Amino acid sequence: MSCGTESDNAAIWGILHANPHKRHIVTTRVEHPAVYNLGKYLALNGYHVTELGVDSSGMLNLQELTDAIREDTAIVSIMYANNETGVIFPVEEIGHIVKEKGSILHTDAVQAVGKIPLNLSKSTIDLLTLSGHKLHAPKGVGALFIRKGITFTPFIIGGHQEKNRRGGTENVPSIIGLGKACELAKKYMSEEQTRVKQLRDKAEDEILKKAPDTRVNGHKTKRLPNTTNLSFEFVEGEAILLLLNEKGICASSGSACTSGSLEPSHVLRAMGVPFTAVHGSIRLSLSRYNTIEDVDYVIEHLPPIIRRLREISPYSKETKVKEQAGKISARV
Ligand SMILES: *Cc1c(COP(=O)(O)O)cnc(C)c1O
Repeated sequence: MSCGTESDNAAIWGILHANPHKRHIVTTRVEHPAVYNLGKYLALNGYHVTELGVDSSGMLNLQELTDAIREDTAIVSIMYANNETGVIFPVEEIGHIVKEKGSILHTDAVQAVGKIPLNLSKSTIDLLTLSGHKLHAPKGVGALFIRKGITFTPFIIGGHQEKNRRGGTENVPSIIGLGKACELAKKYMSEEQTRVKQLRDKAEDEILKKAPDTRVNGHKTKRLPNTTNLSFEFVEGEAILLLLNEKGICASSGSACTSGSLEPSHVLRAMGVPFTAVHGSIRLSLSRYNTIEDVDYVIEHLPPIIRRLREISPYSKETKVKEQAGKISARV
């Protein structure tokens, strides 16, 4: 596959086309745009789409999932780990429910592969998506796992490549790069669970201590070891990113894939994060290439940036206090 997006599309279209009498799909409100926007498209084009909601920690209600699956549910597509918050869904358990109800499970595991252990030989997952550049392979390569016995219609129709599952000549250098990246990810996997997680936890703890009115979005423990999504009340995420960038720190507001738009994150909105906090959200992701010095650098520079922005924010407490004291006039 050329990327994670193609793999997600191939999985869902491949199952829908192979089961044309089934017109219903189940997915969630927090999927990556590669699934989320495809769901929106399908809903406008004759399919029935059920989007499952999440609670304030970003978790699904499995009873709701059970109730949502119908006779005509062709596919259930639920991500493994969320790309904005790192929240991990209980996908194996979800697979048992899907099997019992007689449907097929696809999981977008782009964020999970390489960071947490996955074993597809003993698994309830039927189709699984992964993407190269999320695990240090080159950009422009992804993969779709399809379990033996699953009837699948190719998304790209052409020659007999990939056992008739995807037409087009294979991109061999990228495929080799992806294979090598997977090998290295496996070798360093335990480091993600220990050293990288400790770095992430330290960054989180210190930033929460130094910047008041801050929250971590997403389940405290059912989360990837490398991701933190922070909401700073009364400031703009885009402004934080600009000032962080001046210090050479790369972060993202919402998902990198939607940062071109100023729409607030659909993931945080689905979790019911208050409006004033959604806008001031950023995501920091670490990897095995990060050091304690990197984390200390962020802890040193991020809280002063938040203070500086709050001093000039029309929404902040500081500004409100000044307004009440009559020092500045209210212009809102
Ligand atoms: C990045 C990402 C994708 C898309 O992968 P691309 O290779 O960039 O197309 C899909 N799903 C999730 C969860 C992602 O994080």
